Amino acid sequence: MNPTDIQIIAEEMAIKWENGDESFVSLAKLRKACPCAGCKGEMDVMGNLYKGPDRPYKLSSFRIQSIKYIGGYAIQPMWEDGHSTGLFAYDYLRAVADSPDKE
Ligand SMILES: [Zn+2]
Repeated sequence: MNPTDIQIIAEEMAIKWENGDESFVSLAKLRKACPCAGCKGEMDVMGNLYKGPDRPYKLSSFRIQSIKYIGGYAIQPMWEDGHSTGLFAYDYLRAVADSPDKE
């Protein structure tokens, strides 16, 4: 499903989906779910996970500067700390938004 509108409201991303649903996901949750290789690690053919050292998040890590739309299937948030390699496919975005907050 595709979003028809995405807005950053304070510390949340508000997503309107084409069926009329609305999702709200905190930017901190979104950032922690960043699917890029640097954040999530890369799996080799043997199933070993290679991951860089955890980088501590800063306040600016949970703020979005701008959002780039990628070919009608994903968004690429530009985080204020300069991170921007994570592509959130719409299905994944929806899954993150619908997943329970762990706290
Ligand atoms: Zn990342």
